[in-house]
Amino acid sequence: MPTVEELIGNTPLVRVNRIEGLKGREVYVKLEYMNPTGSHKDRIALYMIRDAVEKGLLRPGGTVVEASSGNTAISVAWLARRLGFKAVIVVEEGTSPAKVAVLRALGAEVIFAPKVPAGHPDHMVNVARRVASERGGVFLAQYSNEANLRAHYETTGPEIYRALGDKIGCFVMGVGTGGTLVGVSKYLKGLLGHRVKAVAVVPRGSPIVGGAGRGEEIEGLAVSMIPDIFARNRGLVDEVVEVSLAESVEWMVRLAREEGILGGLSTGANMAGVYKVLEGCEGAIVTLAPDSIFRYTGVLENYAIRDIL
Ligand code: PMP
Repeated sequence: MPTVEELIGNTPLVRVNRIEGLKGREVYVKLEYMNPTGSHKDRIALYMIRDAVEKGLLRPGGTVVEASSGNTAISVAWLARRLGFKAVIVVEEGTSPAKVAVLRALGAEVIFAPKVPAGHPDHMVNVARRVASERGGVFLAQYSNEANLRAHYETTGPEIYRALGDKIGCFVMGVGTGGTLVGVSKYLKGLLGHRVKAVAVVPRGSPIVGGAGRGEEIEGLAVSMIPDIFARNRGLVDEVVEVSLAESVEWMVRLAREEGILGGLSTGANMAGVYKVLEGCEGAIVTLAPDSIFRYTGVLENYAIRDIL
């Protein structure tokens, strides 16, 4: 019988075959919501915590700190507890009480930081860094931590290759930290060369495509900055496509209804991206369902989806 953390990764890959308009192309979605806490971030939580232990930065009973109000926070809180560490999670004020409640239920300490621009001393990343140094803890810093990329290079990439082999033509993925996109790209390009295309999906108006302010709010994707890991590995990314919030919601609903794949909002964004690169990709197109629709009931309720539903 496996332990629950042994269930991280080795997620299933399914073919999308009922949605019309895919021009007969082979499109595959890797169901990352099948990870223990329901997202692909379990993989990087494991890698980042293990890396800190191996480097001697983290000892039994020690403290890990992360700045995130999304999936990474849940994964870190969960895994830290499982492995005998304390977790401190810094979230922005305004984070949904439901998420904070789950983090606390997992035993994490939650600290609120004001909603200020990145770079401000009180931005959640700087608060996390400060808290880590005050408490002798480790700030995991998913946006710049190489172990994030390595998790996908060593697990997600090989799993995709084992399932599909040489027919992979494109890997399409929304950029939050960029860890999934560049980690998988590095692995596939290492095996198959540059005929495998890595396509970044970004919210409309994102700084990654030269937007000056904030892009459209698609939870999990980078809207107001260019993440370090993405910037450092730009050479592993062949194309960038912009998607809107409306398209992401629409694709999230279509995928659930027509295909039975209950991915979240960024899964919708990924599928909107796939749809935009159908012509430009040769071979099979692969993307991820990073998490599930159940985390976006608020979006479904608030968004003007009367036209869709
Ligand atoms: N989708 C969701 C729901 C996420 O939480 C994230 C991570 N913030 C991503 C996509 C993007 O993944 P990555 O950080 O590896 O770029």
